Amino acid sequence: MKTPVYFDNHATTQMDPRVLKAMLPYFTEHFGNAASRNHSFGWEAEKAVDKARKQIADLIGATPKEIIFTSGATESNNLAIKGVAEMYGEKGNHIITAATEHKAVLDTCKKLEKEGFRVTYLPLKEDGLLDLDLLRQAITDKTILVTIMYANNEIGVIQPIAEIGKICHERGVLFHTDGVQAVGKVPVNVIKDNIDMMSITGHKIYGPKGVGALYVRRKGPRVQLTAQMDGGGHERGMRSGTMNTPGIVGLGEACAICQQDMAEESKRLSHLRDKLKSKLESELDEVFINGSMEHRLPHNLNMSFAYVEGESLLMGINDIAVSSGSACTSATLEPSYVLKALGVGDDLAHTSIRFGLGRFNTEEEVDYVADRMISVVRKLRDLSPLYEMAKEGIDLSKVQWAAE
Ligand SMILES: *Cc1c(COP(=O)(O)O)cnc(C)c1O
Repeated sequence: MKTPVYFDNHATTQMDPRVLKAMLPYFTEHFGNAASRNHSFGWEAEKAVDKARKQIADLIGATPKEIIFTSGATESNNLAIKGVAEMYGEKGNHIITAATEHKAVLDTCKKLEKEGFRVTYLPLKEDGLLDLDLLRQAITDKTILVTIMYANNEIGVIQPIAEIGKICHERGVLFHTDGVQAVGKVPVNVIKDNIDMMSITGHKIYGPKGVGALYVRRKGPRVQLTAQMDGGGHERGMRSGTMNTPGIVGLGEACAICQQDMAEESKRLSHLRDKLKSKLESELDEVFINGSMEHRLPHNLNMSFAYVEGESLLMGINDIAVSSGSACTSATLEPSYVLKALGVGDDLAHTSIRFGLGRFNTEEEVDYVADRMISVVRKLRDLSPLYEMAKEGIDLSKVQWAAE
């Protein structure tokens, strides 16, 4: 086994060698521009793009014409939300989202607020799930869009997407979902799930970085978007720019592999995830799972370790690549806003670890990570007077600390 061990597959994934193999010819021999209509170089590229469009559509139950290629999910989220806001702004100026969305959604919504739109940021229940009654109450006759992610990138919680979509459709409101973490990992079907627009990206499904797609429904309802990138009118006028043929081929191949292997892969990864969880829970006390275990991605575990110091914990496991809800590791100075939205206190948010398993992780790595976590947490707790006091039955919330 090699270290460091990569357990951060919600941040990005290693490209599958099969994906790279499919892409390579499109950098060199087949370098044509998919928009060149007059010669075989262009036709070759167009054929490859069409194949990828079908591979992506097949994975999510869409038709190829409903797939719009972008530079990734950040762009797809921007295009969906701003595109709807511009196109349907006459009809209404209200958008609904949730507090735990990815920044590519939240910051886009904030931008629109500055331009006069009204945005409702729904709170989440303690288990990370959306309260459907709150959603129903939030919709007004001015609401034009609901955008709620399929599965969360920190806690892996899967929202009741089909029900959310149904509520939106009953009220004549468009429904966009950031499907980045769910597509290719759990079954997603845009028809059954009542989705009108969905963002996906290559690099979270063992494909290349810098390429993604937006599913845009063509009937029942037919969704129209105002382009955010003007130019040659590519992608049904919704996204101009020369097609990134190698990237698109890679995204297509990544989707085809997911479709073929998803059932088996998710079974294997949920088994490994559950093994990690039960090892940590049986060897350590005062550990807490963040978010629902029942409605969750198979490869995600997010756990807080009480009475350790977040930064020391990360330093202690520096041969394991994970992500933490602690302020010290992120660009912002706030502890995870996702955990905060679930009501997790600052202390537990600071000592939370997100384990994101992936296609290339092994059982040996899971055992190694579990053992490392257990020994580091024990060591830190041995040094912690708080842990000792808690074990002696002292209620720490009632302790009067002397002023410095
Ligand atoms: C990674 C991620 C994004 C951003 O995707 P990019 O392709 O890197 O722009 C958006 N939403 C979620 C939920 C993500 O996990």
